[in-house]
Amino acid sequence: MTDPLDTFPRVPLAHLPTPLDEPAWLRALFTPDAPRLFIKRDDCTGLAFGGNKTRKLEYLVGEAQAAGADTLVTTGALQSNHARQTAAAAAAAGMACTLVLFDIVPGRGEAYRASGNLLLDQVLGADIRIAPADAPRRETLESVVAELEAEGRQPFFIPTGGSTAIGALGYARAYRELVGQLDALGIQATRLVHASSSGGTQAGLIAGHALLGAGPRVEGVNVYRRDHESMAAEIGALAAETASLIGAGETAPVVLHRAVGPGYGEPMESMVAALTLAARRGGLLLDPVYSGKAFAGLLAMIQAGEIGTDETIVFLHTGGAPGLFAYPDLFAAL
Ligand SMILES: *Cc1c(COP(=O)(O)O)cnc(C)c1O
Repeated sequence: MTDPLDTFPRVPLAHLPTPLDEPAWLRALFTPDAPRLFIKRDDCTGLAFGGNKTRKLEYLVGEAQAAGADTLVTTGALQSNHARQTAAAAAAAGMACTLVLFDIVPGRGEAYRASGNLLLDQVLGADIRIAPADAPRRETLESVVAELEAEGRQPFFIPTGGSTAIGALGYARAYRELVGQLDALGIQATRLVHASSSGGTQAGLIAGHALLGAGPRVEGVNVYRRDHESMAAEIGALAAETASLIGAGETAPVVLHRAVGPGYGEPMESMVAALTLAARRGGLLLDPVYSGKAFAGLLAMIQAGEIGTDETIVFLHTGGAPGLFAYPDLFAAL
């Protein structure tokens, strides 16, 4: 029987499998009574500093090439990790890349506009267009695509975060990889916790769970939207669409915790505390926008006793550390 995850074109871009660690420093934070805690290191996918978008891009670049495209076009915030990984994927696949970045995060300093992911986008040779926060999304993107077409290019548009059903297949595959690692260790994990924003990661993991019919419950941490309920509904719809692509059964309900703080990309105290804790106890770099907030959410759940001490949790580290260079103000005085 053919593997349903191999029936869609996929261009290898990531270093796989990523490590599954059980850090002693993490357990030591809570002894004697704590759940067992693992970290799945998708910050180590390898491509241009890695991160979760690389797994989605393996399928998205496959789709783009099958469609005869020569240019990847995508969008995000100025410090989008997805934009940086897309610029790198395009380069690795011999394609051009145009990034349309919206200046949506308020109150950020100069480094936010010069360093971090934006600097890497430049190094990677992307054609970068910066649009103000109030620019109309659809019209702005459509006009860039039309302009590239008028130049004789074959653009392929990838929506925010690469969160289409095809992109999400990368995380159905990741879920299977993780369950294989857990099985090899003889461990049954109860929950898989990760930062969730555009939803493709969570949708893909849920589809992977449906495909296997086994494995930990997928629990996203919303670091993105005020409108929590509609975000969960959209992730549920994308999970069902992804599962149907691979002939998986019914998908589980979406579990989504909140740790967005004041807003997307806007710092909060618990994020800084969780991020510096991981850095200083474990030498582990999280990021200020996604994994730092999600880790803060996980620590809060453990501290509040919402996670049983008999459970085994996997935290999916989705990457993003290049974003640290855009937030020097948060750490200068610490
Ligand atoms: C994009 C991103 C996420 C969220 O993934 P989605 O699939 O968009 O929900 C989490 N962490 C990091 C570091 C990211 O760049």
